[in-house]
Amino acid sequence: MFNNLSEKLDQALHTLKGHGKINEVNVAETLKEVRRALLDADVNFKIAKQFTNTVKDKAMGQDVLTTLNPGQLMVKIVKDELTELMGGDTVGINLGGSPTVILMSGLQGSGKTTFSGKLANFLKTKKTKQVLLVGCDVYRPAAINQLQVVGEQIGVEVYAEEGNQNPVEISQNAIKHAKANGKNVVIIDTAGRLAVDEEMMTEISNIHKAVNPNETLFVVDSMTGQDAVNTAKAFNDVLNFDGVVLTKLDGDTRGGAALSIKSVVNKPIKFIGTGEKMDAIDVFHPDRMADRILG
Ligand code: GDP
Repeated sequence: MFNNLSEKLDQALHTLKGHGKINEVNVAETLKEVRRALLDADVNFKIAKQFTNTVKDKAMGQDVLTTLNPGQLMVKIVKDELTELMGGDTVGINLGGSPTVILMSGLQGSGKTTFSGKLANFLKTKKTKQVLLVGCDVYRPAAINQLQVVGEQIGVEVYAEEGNQNPVEISQNAIKHAKANGKNVVIIDTAGRLAVDEEMMTEISNIHKAVNPNETLFVVDSMTGQDAVNTAKAFNDVLNFDGVVLTKLDGDTRGGAALSIKSVVNKPIKFIGTGEKMDAIDVFHPDRMADRILG
């Protein structure tokens, strides 16, 4: 995860770590390298620039030039700023409501169906919840099938309506079904498309209005970097979602999405997906991720 970024940041900070004394010139050089590492990780130029400016201000404010171990202090400042960049505090999901309704949004292939299953499994095992999964992709029967396979795998009921082409109706019926059958969490998996389009946005927005979810999650493939951020913005403009799920962090992802999304949409990353299996889900902790990045 973020190997290239870790390596480059380590290299950038290493120069300072080795020096007993540092000066404004090598701080500036270090920060230039830090900025380059962020840009290589596909972090937006403005965000990278702002990041290094903040680090510089903090470093100067803390008298990094005269402190006993300036290298370590710089590492700490960079780590703190990375944590802030990724959202600062850990933010959980809202499990209020009776039942709790969780709506998944995102492009096709982002990992919505897989994550719906993972979240159902997570809530079932960790929080002893009775979960109902809902298949709303009325365009691709294969998608409903996939959800059914996932449901069987984790022992969670899947609600679908064969032949019904109206996802709003299906979602509403599913909530009624949940109430009648003692389920206290309803996870609605929706149809995605390969790119943002008006039809998809109208549909998800209609479902959103009809079910008034306690939690709307935007699922995005972290491998898509800057595109992930642009897609997040498009979905947030329509849904004003509550949180982000970054999937495929087990792959060779550069880190740009994780580092930029919070600044752009001002919504926390709540979960990450780290594999195809049902247990490959983690609550996102910005501080732990920053620790991991800086080793
Ligand atoms: P959807 O179209 O948004 O519902 O996406 P899917 O859930 O079908 O996922 C698309 C592909 O990505 C599938 O092959 C999944 O197995 C895979 N996938 C989903 N999440 C992850 C993840 O966290 N890591 C990896 N490596 N693959 C994932």
